[in-house]
Order: sequence, then structure tokens, then C-alpha cells
Amino acid sequence: MNLIFFGPPGAGKGTQAQLLQHREGIPQISTGDMLRAAIRAQTPLGRRAQKFVDAGELVPDDVMIDIVQERLNQPDARRGFVLDGFPRTVKQAQALDRVLEAGGRQIDVAVYFEVSDEVIVLRLAGRRVCKQGHIYNLEASPPKVPGRCDIDGNPLFQREDDREETVRKRLEVYHRETEPLTDLYRRRGIFARLRDGDIETVYRNLVAIVKAKTASQKPD
Ligand code: AMP
Repeated sequence: MNLIFFGPPGAGKGTQAQLLQHREGIPQISTGDMLRAAIRAQTPLGRRAQKFVDAGELVPDDVMIDIVQERLNQPDARRGFVLDGFPRTVKQAQALDRVLEAGGRQIDVAVYFEVSDEVIVLRLAGRRVCKQGHIYNLEASPPKVPGRCDIDGNPLFQREDDREETVRKRLEVYHRETEPLTDLYRRRGIFARLRDGDIETVYRNLVAIVKAKTASQKPD
């Protein structure tokens, strides 16, 4: 199963991708997590990406396309993947098509996480993460022990780019650069809209959507 998750920052893509990975064994490929790991390790990629990520801007397409291409060609991703946060521009979407086509693969479903800007701003103010990328929300899904990750015990912190001013910038970039993908995938018949809700309800709807969409694409 080859899935794309797209939608505004903080819409729940990462949370749902982590659940799918845990419960169904489909690897989550989060470009945001890959960049944050590179920034922490101060690799050449991390040093190049940092100023864009901190400012809520997109990292240049050519950089992103290279790292995703390499990741998609690893053995675990050949059996299926959830792309969380990529593509984010039409150019990235076209490059993704080329990479997949070259390996005889294609996207099965592009899932659009629909959440209003007002909800996003409120939600990201309460988001906390650990350095492994496990996600909590102080209101909706708090950790069992305050300030500690349930999974690995690491301290939780607020992402630098989850501060309100940067969130507004990320939303602006999202509407301008990423929202046009909606039309592209709708025209192709692989678009599915996922409504917001509590985590387990969204997960159930996600699984139902993916099953229905892939069943309808299979030849009889
Ligand atoms: P995310 O965790 O998906 O919200 O990504 C955090 C930040 O990483 C974004 O605000 C961008 O600066 C950068 N980033 C992640 N994915 C991409 C992408 N596909 N293209 C460009 N920049 C990206």
C-alpha cells in the first residue's frame, strides 16, 4: 500500500502515520522527522535545511526530492509506505511520480487531512514531541507522566516551529504551495478527504477510506 498524507501542519498526519506503522507495519516516511534528525546531527543536509525549517519555509525541492528518492528505494519502502509531509509542491509531486514509475510503482491513495486554520493554531500551541518524534497534545493526548514520552521516557518539548508566528507562516506556505495538490490528485481519482476528529475515530475512518479506495481500483 503506497499512501500520501497531506494537509496543513498539525492536522494529525504524523500521529496517524505512526499508528499505521505500529498497527499495520507500513513504514512512515516523514520528511519533517528526517530533516529534524539531520539538523540535530548537524549533517551537511541538516546545516542546509535548518534556516528554512526554523523560518517555517519549505526546504528547496531538489534537496527534498533527493532524500525522498533515496528513502523510497530502501527495501522496507518497496513493500509499501506512508509519505507524511511529501510532496508539498507540484514539482515534488511530479518528481515523486517519476521515481515511482521508474520502479513500476504508483500512489494508491492521497489522503487529505482537512482541518481549519483556527484549529491548527490552537492545536500546535499544545503539541509536544520527544526527540524520537513521538507526538502528544497537552489537551487531546497528554503523556501519562507529564513532560515524558510514554514510549521512550525522553523529555518532551515544543518544536521551535510550533510557535504561533511560525505556525502562521507555515499555514500561508501550505495554502500557497501544497493545497494545489488537491486538484492534481482529485483529477487522477486517488484523492480522499479525511475529516478531523479524535485520534481513534480518525484512524477508523482512515482505514475505511483506504480499504474502499483500493477495493474500487482493483479490476474485477
Ligand atoms: P513537518 O514536520 O512535516 O511539519 O515539517 C517541518 C518542516 O520541515 C517544514 O516546515 C519544512 O520547513 C520542512 N519540510 C518537511 N517536509 C518538506 C517538504 N516535502 N518540502 C520542503 N520542506 C519540507
